[in-house]
Amino acid sequence: MDCIFCRIAEKRLPAKIVYEDDSVVAFEDINPQAPVHVLVIPRKHIPTSLDLEEEDNVLVGRLFQAANRIARQKGIADRGFRIVTNCNKDAGQTVFHIHIHLMGGRPMGWPPG
Ligand code: 5GP
Ligand code: ZN
Repeated sequence: MDCIFCRIAEKRLPAKIVYEDDSVVAFEDINPQAPVHVLVIPRKHIPTSLDLEEEDNVLVGRLFQAANRIARQKGIADRGFRIVTNCNKDAGQTVFHIHIHLMGGRPMGWPPG
């Protein structure tokens, strides 16, 4: 298995890492769609949100806590931001290592495209 996000988490592929701990890594999206666009991933390789298991429940909370921390750090918490996880083809998932898009710094349209 050759997964680009596993490689980023293991520092075998460069990325602008903004946060990391034992279970979570966050880095700037290479093709940002907003002034703030950070990807928050677990170190554990989980392909999509459909693959989450009971044992991952705490990990999912850690992803959200990391996103909150980064949102505050980047000064977008009060204005607001969007958290998105794309799952499979219709949602436009292109990297099959589960990730949260943390996006902010501009008003967001609704519904998303
Ligand atoms: P998805 O479409 O799967 O929800 O999101 C994948 C995201 O990963 C896209 O926003 C894309 O720009 C980003 N991405 C893809 N390859 C790389 C990479 O090598 N480095 C970084 N930092 N982001 C990447
Ligand atoms: Zn992976």
